[in-house]
Amino acid sequence: MKVIDTEIINKLKSHLLKADGQIVIVPHVNPDGDAIGSALGLARVLKNSGANVQVVSPTNYPNFYNWIVGNEDVIVHSSHKKKAKSAVENTKLLICLDFNHLSRAGDLKESVESYKGPSVLIDHHPNPQAFTELMISHPECSSTAELVFQVVKLLGLQQFVDKDAAEAFFCGIMTDTGSFDYNVSDPQTFQTISELLELGINQEAIHSRVYDNYSADRMRLMGYCLSECMEVYPEYHAAMIYLTKEVQKKFNFVPGDSESFVNLPLSIKGVHFSTLFTEKDDQVKASFRSKGEFAVNEFAGENFNGGGHRNAAGGEVKTSLKETLDLYRSLLPAYQDKLVKTNLDY
Ligand code: 5GP
Ligand code: MN
Repeated sequence: MKVIDTEIINKLKSHLLKADGQIVIVPHVNPDGDAIGSALGLARVLKNSGANVQVVSPTNYPNFYNWIVGNEDVIVHSSHKKKAKSAVENTKLLICLDFNHLSRAGDLKESVESYKGPSVLIDHHPNPQAFTELMISHPECSSTAELVFQVVKLLGLQQFVDKDAAEAFFCGIMTDTGSFDYNVSDPQTFQTISELLELGINQEAIHSRVYDNYSADRMRLMGYCLSECMEVYPEYHAAMIYLTKEVQKKFNFVPGDSESFVNLPLSIKGVHFSTLFTEKDDQVKASFRSKGEFAVNEFAGENFNGGGHRNAAGGEVKTSLKETLDLYRSLLPAYQDKLVKTNLDY
């Protein structure tokens, strides 16, 4: 990981002192384990240091993250709009975590945009938009949680990282690296994990709380999707799964049930570009994953109003599922060169 700019750390330190303990932390819309783990981990550290911290999330998150410390104090904008907006607009320091574009603040976008007090973005997505006063952007970092942990140490707040905060940070790193499968080539990531383990966390328990907490319906849904709703395109090294509203209903779908489905086709020999389309009430959500050079954030940005990382990205479109699937199929030939060029010797 690159060195974090000490000048920005010093400015943030001074903001923290001046904020008089009135701090709001905002993760991205539909928070994943990294967004909510880094937000609650940082909140815990700052609370332990005596600050009054409020995490305000644009939307709710899957309940397999509800065990993270501070979960019950999170204000969710989609359920408590006024309270959420008021918290953001009246804070003395705004910390945005794990997103690189205002649109990723969901319906909190206007409140974040109009906030004129001290603010900082801590994030690991490429090409961040400058919507905060300070920016700690490290796209080479495995996860925002790892980056936040390093920032906490540079701020001199290490003594306030207790076991609960360490569990939250570990959850962020674990989920954003597919349980230490990708984005972990920097030895520092494992040094960070080692420091978190020193704080007494039970990594097996954390893994189990996140990954072994699904319903039987969800397992059956996964089987059904793989059997009935997956298309494989060997000539493009691509595979795609689609999830209709009808199928969601059939298997009593709840948010989080399709988490990690998009990774499954990557285990097919020769497939290094995987897509999941999920039909929603008024849009289709797209998730993309790749192995190697094929940049799914570019694919998402060019065709699905989205973005993200080179190997993990997403987007959304307002077209019907059928039109969306047709679009995807029609795009593959245009990307054939790039898809074929990706050279994987494993
Ligand atoms: P997921 O497929 O898990 O929803 O998202 C994977 C990654 O893609 C996220 O960490 C985020 O960086 C990015 N991403 C997902 N959805 C969107 C979207 O709608 N817009 C943008 N810009 N990025 C997204
Ligand atoms: Mn992340």
